[in-house]
Amino acid sequence: MAFWPSVIVATPAHSGVGASLTYRSELLLAPGALVRVPLGSREVLGVVWDCPTQPPEGLTEAQTKAVASVLDGLPPLNGSWRQVVRFAAQYYQRSLGEVALAALPPQLRELGNDQLARRLKRRAKALASAAPAAEPDTTLARPGGHDLSAEQAEALQALATATAPVLLYGATGSGKTEVYLRATQQVLQAGAHTQVLVMVPEINLTPQLEARFRERFEPAFGAGSVVCLHSGMTPAQRLSSWLAAHTGSARIVLGTRMAVFASLPGLRLIVVDEEHDPSYKSQEGARYSARDLAVYRAKVESEALAAGAAALRSGPPQSPLPGGEGTGEGEGEKPRCHVLLGSATPSLESWHAADQGRYVRLAMPGRIGGGSLPRLRLVDMNHQPKGAVLAPPLVAAMGERIARGEQCLVLLNRRGYAPVLACHDCGWKSGCPHCSAYRVFHKLDRTLRCHHCGFTERVPRACPDCGNLDISPVGRGTEQIEEQLAGLLADVKRPDGSPARVARMDADSTRLKGSLEIQLAALHSGEVDVLVGTQMIAKGHDFRRITLVAGINADSALFASDYRAPERLFALLMQAAGRAGRDAAQSGAAEMWVQTWYPQHPLFATLKKHDYPAFAAEQLIEREQAGMPPYGFQALLRADARTQQVAQAFLNIAAEQAAGLPLRDQITLYPAVPLTIQRVANVERAQMLVESASRGALQRFLSAWQPVLHGCRSAPEARGLVRWAVDVDPLSI
Ligand code: ADP
Ligand code: ZN
Ligand code: ZN
Repeated sequence: MAFWPSVIVATPAHSGVGASLTYRSELLLAPGALVRVPLGSREVLGVVWDCPTQPPEGLTEAQTKAVASVLDGLPPLNGSWRQVVRFAAQYYQRSLGEVALAALPPQLRELGNDQLARRLKRRAKALASAAPAAEPDTTLARPGGHDLSAEQAEALQALATATAPVLLYGATGSGKTEVYLRATQQVLQAGAHTQVLVMVPEINLTPQLEARFRERFEPAFGAGSVVCLHSGMTPAQRLSSWLAAHTGSARIVLGTRMAVFASLPGLRLIVVDEEHDPSYKSQEGARYSARDLAVYRAKVESEALAAGAAALRSGPPQSPLPGGEGTGEGEGEKPRCHVLLGSATPSLESWHAADQGRYVRLAMPGRIGGGSLPRLRLVDMNHQPKGAVLAPPLVAAMGERIARGEQCLVLLNRRGYAPVLACHDCGWKSGCPHCSAYRVFHKLDRTLRCHHCGFTERVPRACPDCGNLDISPVGRGTEQIEEQLAGLLADVKRPDGSPARVARMDADSTRLKGSLEIQLAALHSGEVDVLVGTQMIAKGHDFRRITLVAGINADSALFASDYRAPERLFALLMQAAGRAGRDAAQSGAAEMWVQTWYPQHPLFATLKKHDYPAFAAEQLIEREQAGMPPYGFQALLRADARTQQVAQAFLNIAAEQAAGLPLRDQITLYPAVPLTIQRVANVERAQMLVESASRGALQRFLSAWQPVLHGCRSAPEARGLVRWAVDVDPLSI
């Protein structure tokens, strides 16, 4: 007897290749089985999607090739995983093969069966030797951690019984992480094969979080029970984590957005920390939102669990269901996979979903220890000495803090010394020859660097256009603020009489492996008094001695054309403020300083009250009036080409040819426009906004548009097109 498995292989995004390829097999293959199949002259990794006993109509035995091998050391990818991948491909308008294979660790593609078997054996050995000598104490009689605050206890209780996604709206320092840890613990104790996925925006920024999970769970569940998944890992590490999750030996996966696709057969809880963070949205390939997929995945996993429980009740199981055995779940109660979205400044999408009752909102407004949130102090820059970059009262306040042994954070979202170098004689500016952007002046290594394409040159001695020797920086970046503060605070003494110390943390200072940890440690240990940095210093850190945080250049975001800019600014300033006064004893003195030329701006009034609900309500009214998300639905058609004209021509043809497509009357296609930074690395970039009041209509229209777009590529006007892509639910338009 022969079988005709349909197999998903990695197909380029827009190759137009059908969803799957049919092969021949002597064996019945389970859906989700990993196989190696011939494709052209190569042999590639594939995922079995289906395994019928009849070939598809019109296909003969001679036309099909046989499956080369089955990775039989690995259990098949389960139905929930396949469903999430299928949904992601459909929703984000990519091929199934691209999404499915990108969701697997790259090294898996290269491994043959023997290599895989060897690896799995090594893993098992390592695990056996790492496990605690006694049976692991999964009861966690003494779980460690704190006694829960009343708010934390309530949140946990509500999570356990929730039947919808949970939005944990908790102030900075309210103990959200402790809720994640306890919720994880509950899940792990509920059964021997249960698993938890914890997602964070950028794992490297918060080594503390990983440490807290390891400390809490490894003693009881073994050294291999917590694994990480993120793009900073080597391919071998990624494969190892992935295998641990897939085979169930890892109980907790801690990862960035890519982790939403991890294979987790016992998944019972997904935590999305800082759910508002833009880094959950992928900006290349399938431009998925890991937060949104997490919500979808929890629903799919819950349905599978419910179906499994029903099957168990009505007789012997037909097939081994994910984690269906030995999870120890009580009779009668409906097993679920919960999803917990946490933030002090939730995305307006999630906030709106909670307003509508689609999500359960749990609030933890109080800080642990009863500390207060920092007081907001606006510095009116109209009343500061001309040319002052740092207002004298701010510098004085910092000096006082340092003298008391407290620490300060200074936030500026621009790295380098100055964003532009200019000649005041002839007007030359340090533009990038390859981009429509300026190159940033980095004083430390005396370079001009393009932050878009990376083009770097030594700073010229004289103006390249007129020879003037007097070329000078315009504007300021973190390097310059660090330099200025070191000067301004030169006479300030710490309590022990030693001079104040200023340091900087940004993408430049943390480029070398391990340097971020060293810099964070210097702050935690009190070696550094003032840390200047980009938004990476505002995120998630549990600093204990910071009592003053300053945002020194927030205004640009107040008037940005991007409709999400206010939301981002508010979140950033709230996050930054959240780094101050985390020690309740010092919280009374904690302050957030914001330098602005527009102190009357309404955003600051709500920020002053830490009133996120009021801010969100205002923003949502504006969004509703404008038909913007979450009230309207958007996609972008993006085109890159050698010239702007070609990029726009492609978009215009695509719009013309959309006429007559289903639901076209429910779709608005806006004119093609260049991107704000129109040229990057000598490629011209343009986009077209696609909008609809209905998500379903937008989805169906986009699916119908796909084949048309493939066709438009070969239009004569589009010659010179480099690439195109659809971005569904784009973050900035
Ligand atoms: P968030 O994630 O909401 O900003 P964290 O979870 O980091 O807050 O908690 C802030 C601080 O309070 C941490 O140092 C944490 O160890 C501590 N903490 C959390 N919960 C409790 C508790 N119930 N009792 C005492 N300390 C706690
Ligand atoms: Zn000049
Ligand atoms: Zn450039």
